[in-house]
Amino acid sequence: MSGLTAPKGTFDVLPPESARFLAVRETLTAPLRRAGYGYVETPVFEHTEVFSRGVGESTDVVTKEMYTFDDRGGRSLTLRPELTAGLVRAFIEHRLHTGPLPVKLWTVGSAFRYERPQAGRYRHFTQVDMEALGVDDPALDAEVVALGVQGFRDLGLTDFELLLTSLGDATDRPPYREKLVEYLEKLDLDEETRRRAEINPLRVLDDKRPEVQAQLDDAPLMVDHLSDATRAHYDAVRQHLTDLGVTWTEAPRLVRGLDYYTKTTFEFVHSGLGAQSAIGGGGRYDGLSAALGGPDVSGIGYAVGVDRTLLAVQAEGLDVAAAAGVRAFVVPLGAEAKRLAVRLVGQLRQAGVPADTVYGDRGLKGAMRAAERSGASHAVVVGERDLADGVGQLKDLRTGEQRAVPVGDLFEALRTAVSA
Ligand code: AMP
Repeated sequence: MSGLTAPKGTFDVLPPESARFLAVRETLTAPLRRAGYGYVETPVFEHTEVFSRGVGESTDVVTKEMYTFDDRGGRSLTLRPELTAGLVRAFIEHRLHTGPLPVKLWTVGSAFRYERPQAGRYRHFTQVDMEALGVDDPALDAEVVALGVQGFRDLGLTDFELLLTSLGDATDRPPYREKLVEYLEKLDLDEETRRRAEINPLRVLDDKRPEVQAQLDDAPLMVDHLSDATRAHYDAVRQHLTDLGVTWTEAPRLVRGLDYYTKTTFEFVHSGLGAQSAIGGGGRYDGLSAALGGPDVSGIGYAVGVDRTLLAVQAEGLDVAAAAGVRAFVVPLGAEAKRLAVRLVGQLRQAGVPADTVYGDRGLKGAMRAAERSGASHAVVVGERDLADGVGQLKDLRTGEQRAVPVGDLFEALRTAVSA
């Protein structure tokens, strides 16, 4: 009989590694909470249309990678391949645009894409996502980008880069698109690439294959064809970013995997990750709300991959979760001591001290091994003879030093020892 395993392209996050995962998730979201973004939860599945209309029909995400199924009521549902479209759907459904603007939201959770699995690319992964909706102000673009940078900096990451460009707006894009199509028509491209170019010619600029890139040296670039208004917007974004102490690299060929981006568009890449170097990305999306049947308002946001950011943290050798685990451990020997241990651990936990004890029949040796493995700095060991003397042994697990403490003082002594 073969055992069951996690599906291809998915993985389990187990202790102690999971403490690092949590620390990364926490650190990436803290700057958002500090900047007035409110937490939102949306379902992990949505009506398929939310993504086909929201993410865009020319993208790999929609055409090849979605987990789509009919539920028992015959509705076509899709496991979310990204989190923005669902947040914008909720923004529209709850008429958040009628309240104070911008509406600033964040969420974190699972995303699903049927991709070819490799290091850093999975079928189930976790994204931190944030959106600022309802206002088109370059200062807001700069805030969003800077908050992304802040999360990476707070983790201690240094080997990452911000790639930045402007993809123009609904007025600049059509004439530019025509120029690009004209240019692409003269190239030697395969059928599939041509088909893709018909839906979204910008996507060809982002083609990673050398034989395609070699033909693109003189391709017209959106940044050279921005209208005065869009250029002024982009200049203002860059001015604010400079004021915020954020540095970037101009990336005029940056086109992201989702179709909805306009104007400011960006990606965070890390140099220690090999082929899957993007740790996050985002941009402004003028048409997304309207495409989903909502008000014609602008928005900007980003998604950061938690799993990939954790790989970046490991690649830089950073220790982000040193304080994980319990701090105090209680080892009881005998039934009487067990009651004391359960009470003591309960008191410690109520007082906010991470504490644990052993369960099941363990001898002294096994229990001490558990204490050491727990990561606690101090333990209390209570044997039958100790109890008869009205004491427990307070032990420093790092030095092995030990002293007897009256039972009534154990809680205070342990609490003081672990917070010293
Ligand atoms: P996207 O929604 O494609 O803009 O992706 C945003 C971020 O999510 C990327 O920069 C990655 O860090 C992460 N990400 C996207 N797809 C995957 C995947 N298949 N596996 C792991 N992380 C991913």
